[in-house]
Amino acid sequence: MYDVVVVGGGTAGVAAAYTAAKSGLKTLLIEKKIHLGGAITSGLVLPVMNAGKSEINRDFYDDLVKKMSEFGAQIDFQGNNGWFNPEVLKIVLDEMLSAAGVEIRFLTSVTKVEVGFDNNIKSLELRSELLLENINKIYSHNNSDMLRGADPKQLLECIKQIDGYNNSEEGNCLLECVETRYVIDATGNCDVGKICGCNFIENETQPVTLRFIMSGVDMKKFAEYLRSVDSDKEVSPIEKIDGCIHLSTAYTWDKNSTWALRPIFEKAIAAGDLTLEDSNYFQVFTVAGCDGALAFNCPRILKDLDISDSKAVSEALIEARGSIMRLANFCKKYFTGFEKAYISNIADDLGVRVSRRIEGRYLYTERDLKEGKRFENPVLEANYPIDVHSSEQDGSELKKVGYYQLPIESLMSADINNLFVAGRCLSADFKAQAALRVQQSCFSMGEAVAKYIRNLIS
Ligand SMILES: Cc1cc2nc3c(=O)[nH]c(=O)nc-3n(C[C@H](O)[C@H](O)[C@H](O)COP(=O)(O)OP(=O)(O)OC[C@H]3O[C@@H](n4cnc5c(N)ncnc54)[C@H](O)[C@@H]3O)c2cc1C
Repeated sequence: MYDVVVVGGGTAGVAAAYTAAKSGLKTLLIEKKIHLGGAITSGLVLPVMNAGKSEINRDFYDDLVKKMSEFGAQIDFQGNNGWFNPEVLKIVLDEMLSAAGVEIRFLTSVTKVEVGFDNNIKSLELRSELLLENINKIYSHNNSDMLRGADPKQLLECIKQIDGYNNSEEGNCLLECVETRYVIDATGNCDVGKICGCNFIENETQPVTLRFIMSGVDMKKFAEYLRSVDSDKEVSPIEKIDGCIHLSTAYTWDKNSTWALRPIFEKAIAAGDLTLEDSNYFQVFTVAGCDGALAFNCPRILKDLDISDSKAVSEALIEARGSIMRLANFCKKYFTGFEKAYISNIADDLGVRVSRRIEGRYLYTERDLKEGKRFENPVLEANYPIDVHSSEQDGSELKKVGYYQLPIESLMSADINNLFVAGRCLSADFKAQAALRVQQSCFSMGEAVAKYIRNLIS
């Protein structure tokens, strides 16, 4: 029996599991991939956007920044200390969560949820993807020392699966049932809520992005080039930190904005080096501890995408990778400093800004956010703007707002008593979610939910 099972070891999930285990709760973390970090590591989403300096539920984030700095994988750029190296983050999260006492289960997801008549989750059925090699090992050692002392129920399940292995696609998995007092759904898409049959808020979508990194950029030359074409320090800040040049720059196809890089993009489109769609959004950031690496917050795919439609997602991935190739060649041809640059990483997950959101005990609205409404149990205090990416030219918005709070009730399922959510699948309307989805806020949500559960238990 666990006190809490956190499903999804991404941005909000790691903060939730870390906080829960550190406060003494028996905590299991279920992650379907082979590493933690979610959008940050799988999606190469960096840096953490500055969402203000509030002190509410920032312990995990502060510990993370400290540990990343010890690993030489973090910098403070223009007053934002959330510039990370995403590969090292995987190692740091393993260490932090293991040291806190979290039991981590990779390659695992939830297949079934048992909900009692009292509307409480009793248990979760887990499916663990195992390597064929491991299954063969168990199979060939059947009745051997390796299986002595194993739970007979689990063993039976295990053997059933192995026997079916040759004939069934489902064969390379083991099923296991775990009991828990509380569940935190931090899957981004609210997968546990979906299995439980919860109600959702599903309305407008934002374009998805497949991010990538180019390495081998001569940053000194690129910085000089940027200075010569764009003197606007708001758009193209450049700073020397620990002997390395760090910078960022951006361009969008929106006509209502003035961008110094516009003539360069227009020239590339006219020459057939880029399509108009390739140029819809372009943003780059240097990466902490990776001299010569630039992380791209593009290409943004303009279709309205149902992320549960595997055919549509597959087409989007293929389209995005084609666009990545064109963008990389464009940089090499048009920007000084890219002569020896190459694509070094492509995200292994599409970056999804918004999808299924839980119907919670409180639906947080754009109005609450704009009015800075105060709550009895605030989860976070932030000032990140309403940031809506649109598929239409001139349709995007980035609206500055003052400080706002989010109540814990927006992270509680309205349907299931012991189900909480954390991260971008919170109970918020479209515009409010467009501000709250950033990483700093997701970390706070995870931490706050874990603290709330600890108080319920103690
Ligand atoms: C393109 C893009 C750019 C962005 N740019 C920025 C930025 O620059 N700065 C910023 O602060 N924010 C940015 N954001 C927002 C932010 O990164 C995300 O909203 C936030 O990280 C989401 O956190 P999460 O915990 O909800 O989900 P995630 O971090 O995606 O975590 C979900 C985790 O659950 C796992 N999972 C999913 N389903 C299951 C399942 N069924 N079983 C087990 N595990 C499962 C996933 O593998 C993943 O690890 C951006 C988002 C996108 C998409």
